[in-house]
Amino acid sequence: MFKRILVIPGDGIGTEVTYWGQKVIQTIGEIFGHQFSFDTALLGHAAIKAEGTPLPEETLVKAKQAQAILFGAIGHPMYDNNPSATVRPEQGLLGLRKALGLYCNIRPIFLFEELIGASSLKPEVVRGADILFFRELTGDVYFGQPRGRSQDGQTAFDTMSYSRYEVERIAHKAFQAARERRKKVHSVDKANVLESSRLWRETVTQVAQHYPDVELHHMFVDTAAMALIKNPRQFDVVLTGNLFGDILTDEASQIAGSMGMLASASIGEGTGFYEPIHGSAPDIAGKGIANPIASILSAALLLEYAFELTVEARTVRRAVALTLQQGWRTSDIADASTPQEYILSTDAIGSKIVQNLARVAQVANA
Ligand code: NAD
Repeated sequence: MFKRILVIPGDGIGTEVTYWGQKVIQTIGEIFGHQFSFDTALLGHAAIKAEGTPLPEETLVKAKQAQAILFGAIGHPMYDNNPSATVRPEQGLLGLRKALGLYCNIRPIFLFEELIGASSLKPEVVRGADILFFRELTGDVYFGQPRGRSQDGQTAFDTMSYSRYEVERIAHKAFQAARERRKKVHSVDKANVLESSRLWRETVTQVAQHYPDVELHHMFVDTAAMALIKNPRQFDVVLTGNLFGDILTDEASQIAGSMGMLASASIGEGTGFYEPIHGSAPDIAGKGIANPIASILSAALLLEYAFELTVEARTVRRAVALTLQQGWRTSDIADASTPQEYILSTDAIGSKIVQNLARVAQVANA
């Protein structure tokens, strides 16, 4: 049986890096004897250009039929410089996420030892940090009603709201993940001030009773913001709402150094969505220098979450680690000590990682 994957490269460097995410999955299929089938679809600026809409009906249909989606990035400067444009690339992405009911965003934050100098934090603070964020994605103040402006336009308001059901379903996912890791969940809220956070805390505490082997800690968001920088190693799984997660995951991304290294998964009721955290990077698009590792690590998340291929996912991460150990870099993760001949293009480092997949798999099987 084929495992059906939809590839949506999107815009800018999305197309350059997604090629390598797909290539890695194909190679894993050859090594481990899995059959993956790939289809492609348009989204964002590429879709507006071709079809006049950022989310064509055909993309939506293909997305719902697939078992997993490997996505690149959307965005183009012509919209960034024109905030009043009514048809915009990001509408495609938001529309697709909504249509797929993706309520749970998973973002691993860890630093390869070889890149310790690229982090914004001191080596002794970040060494060994390995955090898995679970951010709720479809509720909270971003979607709560009512929202709007008063009649005189002088007051604006949003509604922060969570239902017990929304908290329960993501909390279960976080505890299940913690069971496979270091068995610790930090639930982040602002329960000293917010009603919705009190319900959040109460619900997470109840869910925790199903997982007596997992330690639960509650932390206020302001404390969490500080603790992430001061002692990131104390965290294993972090579970939080949409707004707090938005801010904390960007803060935490600095632990890992470059945007080009970080992957994410969004899962929910239907097809899951696997993507780098970076955008279309128009400043480097077309130059062949984008770092494909975030896309390759997104492919690893896809293997793990969509198909439960954990050994295969680990093989991908080890191949990336080996490539970095061998000294190969793209320019965003190179530093003053990197010899010029070790700074590679997107395609050259992608090929190195693909070659290393077979090596790593051989060692694992030996
Ligand atoms: P960006 O992530 O595209 O780029 C930020 C900086 O990081 C740039 O200097 C870029 O060159 C660098 N960078 C990003 N990815 C890299 C990689 N793989 N290798 C090397 N360097 C990399 O963010 P931005 O510049 O704020 O946004 C550009 C466009 O992307 C905008 O149109 C924005 O709306 C869109 N965007 C899309 C997504 C998405 O599709 N999920 C996310 C963020 C931004």
